[in-house]
Amino acid sequence: VEKEIVLSVNNIEVVYDEVILVLRGISLDVPKGELVTLLGPNGAGKSTTLKAISGLLKTEDGEVTRGTIEFKGESIANSSPDEIVRKGIFQVMEGRRIIEDMTVIENLRLGAYTRRDKGIKDDIEKVFHYFPRLKERTGMAGYLSGGEQQMLAIGRAIMARPEMILLDEPSMGLSPLLVKEVFGIIRNINKEQGITMLLVEQNANMALHSANYGYVMESGKIVLDGTGEELLNNEDMKEFYLAGG
Ligand code: ATP
Repeated sequence: VEKEIVLSVNNIEVVYDEVILVLRGISLDVPKGELVTLLGPNGAGKSTTLKAISGLLKTEDGEVTRGTIEFKGESIANSSPDEIVRKGIFQVMEGRRIIEDMTVIENLRLGAYTRRDKGIKDDIEKVFHYFPRLKERTGMAGYLSGGEQQMLAIGRAIMARPEMILLDEPSMGLSPLLVKEVFGIIRNINKEQGITMLLVEQNANMALHSANYGYVMESGKIVLDGTGEELLNNEDMKEFYLAGG
């Protein structure tokens, strides 16, 4: 059965500040409804790849200088971040980026800023279904624990009713137990809401157990790809990325 590819990145090159070449021909496909992970060491260019897709690259003086990015068959490489959100792609940034002096509910409403429909209240309840402990936190979001802030950042993405969510290192700064919990919830959201996901991680072991497919990046290139299971059993992966995991 042919899979429907919703996001297709073809041979992109990205340059920062007009001279620093960071991505050297990255290609990847994300099939509809699946969870795909992008792995690799610090500085490999994982975040840059996500920002190229979400359009946020432009806010950091980065530019896609070669290649194409297509979402549902339409080129998005030159669209603004706002246009890309309206087309259905929402990025959860590394480091969470919630608004600390707003409440949980106010933060969630911000995620729905592009929407004009009446389903927003129901979607807040949907977020509380996945993250029940957020419902109990009535103070400012700045008082939430790191794990709760990560949950809120993911909840805010759900509020945008996106077709696709880009997640940048959801495990960052979380305890092993919490990482497991958050990954479980991400997988449930992916399956139950049918939201396609592209997830950047340093925690390869955890990511590959949740993912349908994975790509491994090094120095701005894809060096390996395969199903979650194939990569978990790959000897190079075991040696370099899965040791101790
Ligand atoms: P990490 O896990 O550390 O975030 P990463 O794989 O996501 O790593 P990127 O953040 O995409 O890697 O960075 C890739 C390269 O691009 C690094 O060498 C980094 O120094 C450089 N880089 C990132 N952002 C910028 C920027 N705004 N201006 C110039 N260079 C940048």
